[in-house]
Amino acid sequence: MITVLNPATEEAIAELPSPGVEETDAAVAAAKAAFPAWRAVAPGDRGRLLRRLATLVEEHGEELARIESRNVGKPISGARAEVGMVAEVFHFYAGAVDKHHGETIPVAGGVDLTFREPLGVVGLIVPWNFPLNIASWKLGPALACGNTVALKPAELTPLSALRLGELALEAGIPEGVVNIVAGKGSVVGQRLVEHPDVAKIGFTGSTEVGRRVMERAAATIKRVTLELGGKSANVVFADADLEKAAAAAPYAVFDNAGQDCCARSRIFVERSAYDRFLELLVEATRGINVGDPQDEATEMGPLISAAHRETVASFVDGNVAFRGDVPDGPGFWFPCTLVEATNDDRIAREEVFGPVAAVIPFEDEEEALQLANDTPYGLSGSIWTRDGARALRMARGIDSGVLSVNSNSSVRVSTPFGGFKQSGFGRELGLHGLEGYSEVKNVFISTE
Ligand code: NAP
Ligand code: MG
Repeated sequence: MITVLNPATEEAIAELPSPGVEETDAAVAAAKAAFPAWRAVAPGDRGRLLRRLATLVEEHGEELARIESRNVGKPISGARAEVGMVAEVFHFYAGAVDKHHGETIPVAGGVDLTFREPLGVVGLIVPWNFPLNIASWKLGPALACGNTVALKPAELTPLSALRLGELALEAGIPEGVVNIVAGKGSVVGQRLVEHPDVAKIGFTGSTEVGRRVMERAAATIKRVTLELGGKSANVVFADADLEKAAAAAPYAVFDNAGQDCCARSRIFVERSAYDRFLELLVEATRGINVGDPQDEATEMGPLISAAHRETVASFVDGNVAFRGDVPDGPGFWFPCTLVEATNDDRIAREEVFGPVAAVIPFEDEEEALQLANDTPYGLSGSIWTRDGARALRMARGIDSGVLSVNSNSSVRVSTPFGGFKQSGFGRELGLHGLEGYSEVKNVFISTE
């Protein structure tokens, strides 16, 4: 059995059977059986079914947001926004189904055509930090391209995916097309990666597990897309709007209690503005409203588990510039924490995945770029400056998949998202998201 907890109260909110290899194989078999009919559905009709799912997500938005908020411990306001994005993702891919197609290529002696073929059964493995969102980023394009899926949510947060599976059926997506297998990574996840009938794994999680997925997928030459960890830079130049940058910076790392792959957890500040910026940053961080996730005003909830809290705590031993308050009583709380550090300290090298940020000074643009890139990761990042040319130089120079200038946003429904370096490969969202869920077939027809 799997006991599902509310991390804000430590209370059990569900007891579920824990599926094993047999159940995983059954899900893959169901997906395989459903594939021929699903790929044959006319694109416009597949789009209509996805749109119906998007509408059902909207209609059940409050219910889904409550589930997500209670299971992950995330503030209800944020959970609502996330569910809103899930609906938008399905709307986007509903509209994309009949716009993703092949081409004709001029060649001698005949006609050359390309087709976008679905892969077949795809295994989707997602983490606990944004369970429904990240599931939708994979489900949307996978279904749009005509694949059938076995989706494995994280063991800690299975509830929203299970509900989404029901809504998919209610939307009229045929049985067997979407299969939710809510079990352990070491059992269900590993079986999906090894299963000979699974053509591709879409994985989001840690770099460590991603590496293992890639190794095991090699046995069957499975396609993989990997969305992994991050240690992103928030680079603040002295000429930036310091008030605006400092007001935004805490949300770029403490959102979702820092359990965000895009967390800009290395805050680099030009030396001449360092003291002033740190002062503003501490003030802004002090203002973050930490508490009951069900409260409308709450901005940050607890961490996901007691074990994760131990890991996060192990990072904080240096020069603490600020440590916030947390509620009394049960819940896996951890305070917002700012640490003055260098880029060589452990806190700046490894992904903390908690509300802990390293603040690091730099001398000039050259050093800022060198420090931003001095990391094995490359997922997101921000540049704050009023110098447009410098913003562009930095944006081109940072080895990272997603960057923003004078903003901390990373994720939009219509734009590509994914990593450089050990943050993974493959792109999700936008039209780029379709690439990873179809294979290009080339057919030459002789006219001679
Ligand atoms: P994780 O431990 O790597 O787990 C991710 C998923 O993989 C879970 O569903 C997990 O199952 C499963 N899994 C575990 N072992 C497996 C195995 N041997 N074979 C196949 N699947 C296996 O990551 P997490 O702790 O849930 O999430 C945090 C990490 O995700 C962070 O590193 C974060 O940066 C990353 N992340 C990246 C992105 C991105 O888009 N780049 C987005 C969000 C999060 P169980 O948990 O059920 O065991
Ligand atoms: Mg884990």
